[in-house]
Amino acid sequence: MKASKFAYTRVLEVDEALAVLAKGGGTAKAMSGSQSLGPMLNLRLARPAQVVDVASIPSLRTVSRKAEWVEIGAAVTHAEIEDGAHQPLARHPMRQVACGIAYRAIRTRGTVGGSLAHADPAADWVVTLAAMGAHIRARSPRGERTIEVDALMLGAYTTVLESDELIVSISVPSETPTTHWGYHKVCRKPGEFAEASAAVWFDSSRKRTRIVLGAADGPPILLNALAAEIASKGAGAAGREQLRVAVSVALPERDAIDLKRFTACVERAIEQSGVLADLKQAE
Ligand SMILES: Cc1cc2nc3c(=O)[nH]c(=O)nc-3n(C[C@H](O)[C@H](O)[C@H](O)COP(=O)(O)OP(=O)(O)OC[C@H]3O[C@@H](n4cnc5c(N)ncnc54)[C@H](O)[C@@H]3O)c2cc1C
Repeated sequence: MKASKFAYTRVLEVDEALAVLAKGGGTAKAMSGSQSLGPMLNLRLARPAQVVDVASIPSLRTVSRKAEWVEIGAAVTHAEIEDGAHQPLARHPMRQVACGIAYRAIRTRGTVGGSLAHADPAADWVVTLAAMGAHIRARSPRGERTIEVDALMLGAYTTVLESDELIVSISVPSETPTTHWGYHKVCRKPGEFAEASAAVWFDSSRKRTRIVLGAADGPPILLNALAAEIASKGAGAAGREQLRVAVSVALPERDAIDLKRFTACVERAIEQSGVLADLKQAE
């Protein structure tokens, strides 16, 4: 099928993009890498009258360190992160996540901002950036606001963003020697969307502990009680049974096989993070 007719405008300034979106009054859509919007246009699941291409806006293509945060322009691609092309992310855990997204051809065009705005429950950034405690900056003609990534999604393919609002950047905590991090996704082939996933982020110096389930058909699910138990009680709170109970409470309608897959994701993400060895040492 071919896309229905739409007007296409490429812009080089955020203000220009906002003006086009505002003029569209809900019938205009931003385009970044077009790796999700393109198929949706061709399948006529999206029929905007106007598409505004933001992928070449210079201010959306930069990465900078700001105190303990790294601010990433919304149009930075998965491949740039994978390649360590931006120095502030050269040793960041985001590199490991990026190289597991789809295939290289998709990664060279797909962007972090586009992925978050698309809000596919099975996507990688939605769950991993929620685990890191990342936030986005969104701009509209009404001004700018900050949204926590874990509060961005309302449901599958739905976010709190208004139709005239543009994600301009994503801020992630910089990695420190005390950062313990892990991410595991279950998928049929490497590079596929996840069928179950979990990300963990423990940073004792900044007192941040997060365990998040992804690919659960909706927004990422934070296992706050489990994370707090592990942070306060140590490795003993992260036994397989404790993990299974936490996952069952979070996903009450899932069958035994699904629960096993999600539990395995949490267990492997924790294992990968190496936090248990540290916690045992501290006990
Ligand atoms: C075959 C295939 C396999 C894939 N596998 C995976 C995978 O394993 N894991 C994974 O995470 N992803 C996967 N993806 C998705 C890929 O990561 C896309 O890059 C991503 O979903 C969308 O990013 P994009 O830049 O291409 O956005 P686009 O397709 O350009 O836009 C997507 C949506 O976001 C909106 N949008 C774009 N930019 C902004 C912005 N700055 N502000 C507000 N709204 C914006 C658009 O209006 C549109 O609604 C796959 C895609 C394909 C085609």
